[in-house]
Amino acid sequence: MRQFYVPEALHVGSETVFDVPQSHHIADVLRMKSGDTVRLADGEGNVFLASLRFEGNVVKADIDEKCDSLPEGKITVAAAMIKKEKWELMIQKACELGASVIVPLVTSRTIIHLDDKEINKKLERWNKIALQACQQCNRASLCVVERPIPLSQIEKYRSEVNLVAYENEEKTKLRETLSSDEITFVIGPEGGFTADEIDSLNEKGFTSVSLGSRILRAETAVMFVLSVIEGLK
Ligand code: SAM
Repeated sequence: MRQFYVPEALHVGSETVFDVPQSHHIADVLRMKSGDTVRLADGEGNVFLASLRFEGNVVKADIDEKCDSLPEGKITVAAAMIKKEKWELMIQKACELGASVIVPLVTSRTIIHLDDKEINKKLERWNKIALQACQQCNRASLCVVERPIPLSQIEKYRSEVNLVAYENEEKTKLRETLSSDEITFVIGPEGGFTADEIDSLNEKGFTSVSLGSRILRAETAVMFVLSVIEGLK
């Protein structure tokens, strides 16, 4: 069943009015009809079943019932920015695999550098990719891509469990550390973290974890961590 995000408070018995681009998409692209049932999500974790109603060029939906939704954990992916195609693939897959927040990081080996104007444009694009991915996999809540921050500000995004994936970590395995569903994990860029960055993260309470004996590409590392977290549910 198709799901649409409607960024407003939704209630059983009320109606929602789709904006012009959404109405066009529903009527002319998806070729849906009056009476078709859709899922409406408010992006905050609440999902409803609703019946479409067409009024001229405007599509409305009558909200019929609330769906049961399982509480989702809060997973923050703080990842060093990597090259465009891989970064965008990472956003899409992270949304499918349950990330709640994606924080682009600038580290000493980050090779992508954006000025303020470029960041504003990129944020719009990255959040569009996130929205489409969340919509495609019928997630109840939206994943948000935040403004890039330098690694030194990572403490803003602390959770109950705080991890940094580090390929030189020999003892601590990811699975051993996942004692809560409020997790922030940090992933390095193509060239990895410097030893100083790892020391500083450890001092701030981010535990170094190994993702196994193979060196994964940064985007693969993000998908691996999220899959392991999902697999433990
Ligand atoms: N320093 C490395 C190099 O250039 O050969 C590898 C960097 S790796 C491509 C990018 C990031 O993925 C790392 O900074 C780390 O966060 C994560 N990563 C990849 N493989 C990992 C592993 N086996 N264990 C822990 N983290 C890993």
